[in-house]
Order: sequence, then structure tokens, then C-alpha cells
Amino acid sequence: MGRLRVAQIASEVAPLAKTGGLADVVASLSRELESNGNRISIYMPFYRETRIACKGAARQVRKSIPVHLGPGTTQEVNVFQATLTGNKANVFLIENAKAFDRDHIYGTSESDYADNGERFILFCRAVTQLMKESGDEYDVVHCHDWQTALVPAYIRRIYAGEGKLARMAQVFSIHNLAYQGVFGKEVMLKTGLGWELFTPEQLEYWGKVNFMKAGILYSDKISTVSPTYSKEILGSEYGCGLDGLLRTRQADLSGILNGIDTVVWDPAKDARISAPYSAKGMEGKEACRRALLQECGWENEGGKRKMIIGAVARLASQKGFDILVQAIPKLAKKPVKLVVLGRGERKIQDMLEECAHSYPGLLSVQMKFDEAMAHRIYAGADAFLMPSKFEPCGLGQMIAMRYGTLPIVRATGGLLDSIRPIGKRAGSGNGILFKEATPAGIITAVEEALELFKNEVEWKKIIPDIMGADFSWSASARQYENLYVQAIHAMEKRMKNSR
Ligand code: ADP
Repeated sequence: MGRLRVAQIASEVAPLAKTGGLADVVASLSRELESNGNRISIYMPFYRETRIACKGAARQVRKSIPVHLGPGTTQEVNVFQATLTGNKANVFLIENAKAFDRDHIYGTSESDYADNGERFILFCRAVTQLMKESGDEYDVVHCHDWQTALVPAYIRRIYAGEGKLARMAQVFSIHNLAYQGVFGKEVMLKTGLGWELFTPEQLEYWGKVNFMKAGILYSDKISTVSPTYSKEILGSEYGCGLDGLLRTRQADLSGILNGIDTVVWDPAKDARISAPYSAKGMEGKEACRRALLQECGWENEGGKRKMIIGAVARLASQKGFDILVQAIPKLAKKPVKLVVLGRGERKIQDMLEECAHSYPGLLSVQMKFDEAMAHRIYAGADAFLMPSKFEPCGLGQMIAMRYGTLPIVRATGGLLDSIRPIGKRAGSGNGILFKEATPAGIITAVEEALELFKNEVEWKKIIPDIMGADFSWSASARQYENLYVQAIHAMEKRMKNSR
């Protein structure tokens, strides 16, 4: 296949802005699609951290473009162009200092920015207008998550008559249904979409406006980031109130497992870790392990070799760190050490910090976003824990495997699709899964991992084995290409029927 022209629209793209997996996915999927011969343009906001990451290399291509919002409201944006290292995709950065030149992308650990609705309305409307006005044509517009979900509604409701935009097929990807972009009724006016869309069948959601609904309603095809999650969200437990709407679009909904960027995440060439290593020569991993112990203030392991368990995550309730905290007193009796790198909700940060204070020999926490430290943890830890209550896909478990670090994960969403239980010996699986999101579930899984860890001979077979798992983008990018073609067919049919 190949040779499709695709606009990727997202609120974060690594390494220009990142809070989680979405950023990795948009960057690495785009690179893979490019290398298959497609032409990709990426649209994202120009945040303060993006300006820093660009190191002056972003070039201004459009100036002071008026963007029409609600009645009588216009704001101006500038457009910059940049590239990503090793990636041929063109990146268009939408600049508006008031909306995007801030300390954070979405808000602080206390709360989200109060005007996130307005910020992403501006972004969506600006991108739609730019696609209409620029000389670029796209076969497919691929929007990611609620921050971009108004784009399909704008194309279908406001620009329906504009030949060029109307002929672009639309794909909407749900990376996490728990974040829907729900705002007060007054925000509806600011979208510039008519009040006739403020009904429960359209964008209204219990008296408020829900941006995610626009993406689900107005896209030709909808995807989520793993096959299991695409089924889970059709039920009330994981559907976050939108399962009913999703069931109406079930025929157009699919799940495609994310891949990881095997160039960025490569222990054989990673300049951020103490020593390189590969499945064929694992000495470097031991050096990374020692460096990590030292970094956590545990130079002296204290007698017997301990199993170092790493965790790198957004500290949101979804990730299950509140459950981990409850398991700490029992874990303290086991030969393990825990290193957590994360940033997020204040109450979870506080819980973890208190625990680290009470159990300094067991738990080390770093409350920050630190890409380099994430690499050092993936490389230096023996095991990697993801006690998620739900997990649309999860990248941590795949990255951990690439670094020869045994994943210990809750059996949900994409974790179920990427991890097979290892059992008692090598060759039968690639990680430890546990069913119950409870302290007991975590403890049993850690005990299972310890059984393997204690058996040095078996461990030496298991680790190189899991490093061989293929989580590259090649298969998944092909599935996205298929989805794009299906979306184009669906758009053509829709256009024919509307004539
Ligand atoms: P989610 O998208 O829900 O945040 P994923 O597992 O899909 O979870 O992706 C998380 C990504 O963000 C991984 O690349 C992980 O290494 C990275 N990450 C999360 N928190 C941090 C942090 N505090 N510092 C550095 N990287 C982080």
C-alpha cells in the first residue's frame, strides 16, 4: 500500500511535547507510515516546552491568521514548521501565546487549566481552517483524543460544502476514554457549532458539552489502541458513560495495538544509560542496575540480591498506585526494591512520598517528568510494574521487555494483548499477569516474579527471550493503512448518499 496523504492531529507529539503514551504513538506511527511511502503532516499546538525542544529550529510559515470562533469572536494564530529527528513528517505548530505559552500542557498537579475547552477549540478550529486554506491536500485526517475531536465536527458541520475538506476521510483514535473533554454549557457557544447540536444525541452530556462525542459521531472510522480495550469500552464498566454511543458505532470501531519506537528505545544504542547491552551480551544491564541502585541511594543492597522493580507512569488514579501503596507494608518483607518515577495528581504523589519516607530501604520515588531517568529505570530494573485499573494499551510493558525487564502487569486492556503469562519456565510467555486490582493481587504477582528471579539459571534464559518480542510498528502501521482505506471508502459512500 502506501502513498496516502495523512494529516495527524494531536495535542502532544514526542519529543516536542509529552505527558504520556499519546506523544510516543503519534511520532512513531508517523515515522513508520512515512517509511511505507505515505506522506504525513502533523498538526499540534506550539507550547512553551515545544519551543524549548525545537531549539530555535522552528520556522514561521504563516502570521496572524484570524480564526473564527463563536459569534463575533476571532483570535489570531501564527504557524511554525518543524521536523522531528529521523522522521520525514512535516510538523505544523499552532502558536497563540495566551493559549499555549504556559508552564504545562493541560494543567498542574492541582487541577487542569480552567480554559482547556477554549484552548482546544482554538486549536481545532485553527487546524481545520489551515487545512482548508493551505495548498496541502489530505486523503485522511486522523484525529487523536478529545483535544482534537472537534475537527471532524467542524469539517462535517461547518465546512460540509467545501469540496476539498469534505473529501477528506476522517479517522478518530481513542487513546483513553476516561478523558473526554467535558465542559460547561457556555463552552458550546464558543465552539461556533450551532445550538442544534446541544442534544443528548449530539454533543450534550448531562447538561454539559462533551468534545469526545464529536469525534465518535463525525468520523468515518474510530479506533482504539488495543483490541481488548476496543471491546471493553462497549460495556458500562470501562465505557465511561459513552458505551451506549460507542455501541451505535460498533461496526466502525476497531482496536490496533500500539507499537514502540525501536530506535528511541534500544538498549544497544541508548546514550542515556550507563552501558549498552543486547540479548546476546547482557553485561551492560548489570552496570545499569548498579547505577540505578546508586541513584536511589542504595549502594549497599543489603545482603542477598534484591529484585529491583521499576515503575514509570503518569500518577493518575487509573494507574493503580493507590493500590500499590496499600501493598507496601507486605512488600517491605520481601527481597525487593521499588523505584517509581511519575508526576500527576497531588493526592497520589503525597501518598507515595509518605510511603517512601516510611520505607526508605524499599521505595524510592521521583516526582517529576524525566525522559532520561525513565530510560535508566527501564534499563536498570529487573522487573517493571503496571498495576493499572484499566489500560487502553500501555507502552511501559513493551519498553520494559525491550530492555530485558520483566513486566508485572494487571490483566486488562492492552496489557492483556501484549503480555502472555510466563509460567514456571522460559519460552512459554513474556511476563506476569494478575487479575485482581488489589494489594493481594500485586503481592501474589511479585511473589511469582521473585520465584523466577531467585532461579538464576532460568532467569538468564527468560530475559533474553522476552527481549526478542516484536513490538515494532510494522504490523500495526499496516493495520492503520487498512483503516485509512476503509475510511476513504466510507467517506465516498457517505458523499454519494448525500447527493
Ligand atoms: P499513558 O499514555 O496512559 O500515560 P503509556 O504506558 O501508554 O501510558 O505511556 C507512558 C509513556 O510516558 C511512556 O513512554 C513512559 O515512559 C512515559 N512516562 C510516563 N511518566 C513519565 C515520567 N514521569 N517521566 C518520563 N517518562 C514518563
